[in-house]
Order: sequence, then structure tokens, then C-alpha cells
Amino acid sequence: MAEVPAEATYAWSHKQRIVLFLAAMRHFRNNLEEGGISVDYTELGDPGNAGTLEKQLQCSLERDTPERVVMVQPGEYRVLTGVQAVCREAKVEVEVREDEHFYCSPKAFDQWADGKKSLVMEFFYREMRKRYGILMQADGKTPEGGTWNFDKSNRGSFGRRGPMDLPPAGLVKPDPITRAVMEEVNARFADHPGSLDTFNWPVTRRAALSVLRHFIEQKLPCFGKYQDAMWGGEPFLYHSLISASLNLKLLNPREVVERAERAFSDGLAPIEAVEGFVRQVLGWREYVRGIYWRYMPDYLEMNEMGADQPLPAFYWDGDTPLACLRETISGTLKNGYAHHIQRLMVTGLYALLLGVKPREVEDWYLGIYVDAVEWVTLPNTLGMSQYGDGGIMASKPYIATGKYIKKMSNYCSTCPKNPELAEGADACPFTTLYWDYLIRHESKLKANQRMALQVRNLAHLSDTRRAAIRKQAEWVRNCPSMAIGASATPS
Ligand SMILES: Cc1cc2nc3c(=O)[nH]c(=O)nc-3n(C[C@H](O)[C@H](O)[C@H](O)COP(=O)(O)OP(=O)(O)OC[C@H]3O[C@@H](n4cnc5c(N)ncnc54)[C@H](O)[C@@H]3O)c2cc1C
Ligand code: SF4
Repeated sequence: MAEVPAEATYAWSHKQRIVLFLAAMRHFRNNLEEGGISVDYTELGDPGNAGTLEKQLQCSLERDTPERVVMVQPGEYRVLTGVQAVCREAKVEVEVREDEHFYCSPKAFDQWADGKKSLVMEFFYREMRKRYGILMQADGKTPEGGTWNFDKSNRGSFGRRGPMDLPPAGLVKPDPITRAVMEEVNARFADHPGSLDTFNWPVTRRAALSVLRHFIEQKLPCFGKYQDAMWGGEPFLYHSLISASLNLKLLNPREVVERAERAFSDGLAPIEAVEGFVRQVLGWREYVRGIYWRYMPDYLEMNEMGADQPLPAFYWDGDTPLACLRETISGTLKNGYAHHIQRLMVTGLYALLLGVKPREVEDWYLGIYVDAVEWVTLPNTLGMSQYGDGGIMASKPYIATGKYIKKMSNYCSTCPKNPELAEGADACPFTTLYWDYLIRHESKLKANQRMALQVRNLAHLSDTRRAAIRKQAEWVRNCPSMAIGASATPS
């Protein structure tokens, strides 16, 4: 095991992401050694640290001259090819084993996907439910609750009063080993984004299990209903906060799904909530991994809509008066976390509407979130959020005006902009850019049945309004943070 600096800089990583990985590694090393297993471990500051995973492996191969290298399928294509290349060069056989921390292997996903015209997540998810008998009635064919999907009951907002009696986040205080890593990261990676003041992520299996237990007991019953809702000053709401633990393999998705199922059978949580949660872990999580391995390495370069804008600088510091973006980005810098709808419908949506290059969007997400590993970040950003893959992941671009954000949050009430307006000094840039996106991509979107209604609405815009929107969008593109002041008027 090696704590190589390159892993913290190839994606410009949030300090919490670096601490999370290194602290989890040190705890794991200690566990193995306590269990009598000897580990060849290189710490960040060790004189023998070669700087990159490949160079470190090369040193080990030269020193230990092993017969072969056995590895678990890694979470990133570049790590797989990097290890294979070093072993090839050293003429050492390499054996890649299945990662048991997933239900569905890349091979099994390909078997499901081969020959299909489109890879709809919903059908993959149903297949998984049947295959593993999860939330199924005794006949093995009928879904629990009589329907596969409770999405319609899972789109609640908090209304005007906001969330009531929210349970605590349920995270854990860092122990001395983690605190030592925090000091080291603060010193070595001082110029990296984010702060460590609130680092409370689990880095051991015991802590991850306690976060899972807290979620099942206190948050799961409301998870489904408020899954898509957002609220100022409340970054965690009813979300489980287990993605990083799952991705670090401190938790196995099977035990997570089992505990949710048990909460349903014990009458502790309703089917709407449990199904909504199981859909995320058994459905989306397994599906995006299948997509990643099926389409890599080509996936990295896909850019269906020809997006060519740079990522706005304020994504790195949150310096914008636009309330939804400021709230999401400042929460991200504080915690290394934002929940799904903030990622998809605030930061992701804004980048999509602006026309930011998908690779720049991906690089930001990969560095800034504690749960980011390329197998899961890339399909979610480039695919689901930016529609860069032209519909492999999502059947249409996830676009909306500021009115969606108003409906699902209280952000607009503290924003100098008005989500109803597409033009003028008070116009919400999401609303302006939504119409501009439709105008810019009209001919391509016309071909997509699922976009028919949105494209048809364009016909109601006069030529004068179209021109005004295009002009205002250009103005937004030149100043995407709107940091020059709420009263500035496009000229
Ligand atoms: C643009 C974008 C980027 C994302 N990047 C990442 C990433 O780097 N790493 C990551 O783990 N998730 C990513 N997601 C998915 C999702 O947003 C996070 O898994 C979730 O917000 C983590 O918080 P939570 O554990 O509280 O999740 P909850 O809301 O409580 O959901 C439960 C679990 O379901 C799984 N899950 C839910 N949605 C997805 C999804 N779309 N893909 C994969 N797993 C999912 C996660 O393991 C999560 O822990 C991204 C989503 C978007 C839209
Ligand atoms: S008005 Fe627009 S920019 Fe402001 S918070 Fe609402 S959606 Fe975001």
C-alpha cells in the first residue's frame, strides 16, 4: 500500500478527500498487521516514496521479484492500465480479480446490455431485484408494494416551513490516527480546496457501520419523500452519507440493502422510502459501474453537445451572489459533500446550460467530493449530468429553469435573481440559459421524442425574445458568477 502524492493531485483534490483515503488506508494497514498480516506500506513522508502508484509498484517488483501480481479490479481504468503496463515491462504476470463489493460484475452487466438498443436503468434495476430476490413478494415475480417504482411519491419538497425535526447527520469524530493525517494534509496540501474543520467522515468499518445504523434508524423513513428536496444551511437532510464508505469498501452494498429491507419487513420504514433507497444502491450504483467499464476509455472523451466553455472559477471558491450555487459550492468546500439533487440540478445543471466542456466538469467533481472515484463520478457527470454521452445514461438532457430550484428549495428566497425571468437585470441565469440551450441545440433536440414538449414551447418565443435571450445568455457566459452585482444590467 502506498500513499503517493500523485493520487491527490491528478484530480485537484479537496483536503477532506485526501484525508479520507489516507486515514482509511492507515487504519486498514493497522488492522491487517494486528491480524498478523505483514504489509509493505509507504507513508506520504517516507524517504522511499516514489511519488506515483506505477513507480512505487516498479520499485516493489524490482525488490521483491514476485512470480505474479494479483489485484482486485480497481475503481479507475487508468490504475488498471497503469499496473498492467508496469507488470508487462517487468515481465511479471498480472491477475485481475473480481471486486466482491458489487452485485454485478462488468461481465454480467455486458451480458444484460448486449443486443439492447438502449440501456434503461429501470429495466436493469428490475432485473437485479428479481435476480437477487430483493423487495420481492413470495412468488419471486411481483414487486413488494405491487409496483416497481415509487418515484412519484419521492419528489416532495419541504414547503414554506422547511424541514422539521431533522435528525443529526450521524457522522463521527476523528480519532488520533485520523487527526495526524489531517495535520499532515493541512501542511502538505495547503493550497488544495476545502477545509478540514468539519472532517467527520468514517474511515473504519466500525464507524461506517454506525453511520449506516443511524441512517436506517433515524432517516430512512423520510428518505424517499425528501430525496429530491434542498434547503439552505442543511447540507445532509435525510441522506445516508454512506457513499464514501461504500466506495472505500468499508461497507458492502449487500449489507446496506439487507438492512434497508429489514427495516421494511420490521415495519420501521414504508415501502416508498425503502424502494427509493434500494433503487439508488442496487440500481443506480451498479448501473453506473457497468456503464463505466463498458464504455471506457472512449467514454472520457465524449462530448455529444460540443460543449466548449471553461468551468467558471467560482466553482472553486463559491464566490457568487447566486444563492443556489453559493449554498451548494460552499457546502461542498466545507464538507466535501453535496447531495444528489444539488450535484445534478444546481452545479451540474448550471455547467450543462453554460456549455462547459464535460472533461472540466468531471475533473471538478472528481477532485471535490469525498466519495469520488472515476467509475462512479464519470458516468454521473459526463453522462447523467452533462449528456456528454449522447444518451447512453440518460434518455434526454436534464435541463430545467430556475423554477425547478425554486420548487425544490428555499434558495431563491435569498437570491437577488428571479427564477421566473429570462431577461433583464433580475433574470435568473438558469432560466436564461435554459431557453438559450434549447435555441442553440434545437435541431439536435428535435430528434429526441422525450424533448418534444420542451422544444415545442420554443415556438411560443418571438424572434425578438429569442434574440434578447441569446444576448442575455452571452452576457451570462461572460460573467457566469454574476459577481459584478445583482443590479448589473446586460447592455
Ligand atoms: C454530477 C454527479 C456526480 C456524482 N458523483 C458521485 C461520486 O463521485 N461518487 C458517488 O459515490 N456518487 C456520486 N454521485 C451520485 C450521488 O449523488 C451520491 O452517491 C450521493 O449524493 C452520495 O450521498 P449519500 O451517501 O448521502 O447518498 P444517498 O442519497 O443517501 O443515496 C444512497 C446511496 O445510493 C448510491 N447512489 C445514489 N445515487 C447514485 C448514483 N447516481 N450513482 C451511484 N451511486 C448512487 C450511493 O452509494 C449513495 O450512498 C454523483 C451524482 C451526480 C449527479
Ligand atoms: S433565482 Fe436562480 S440563481 Fe437564484 S437561487 Fe433561484 S435558481 Fe438559483
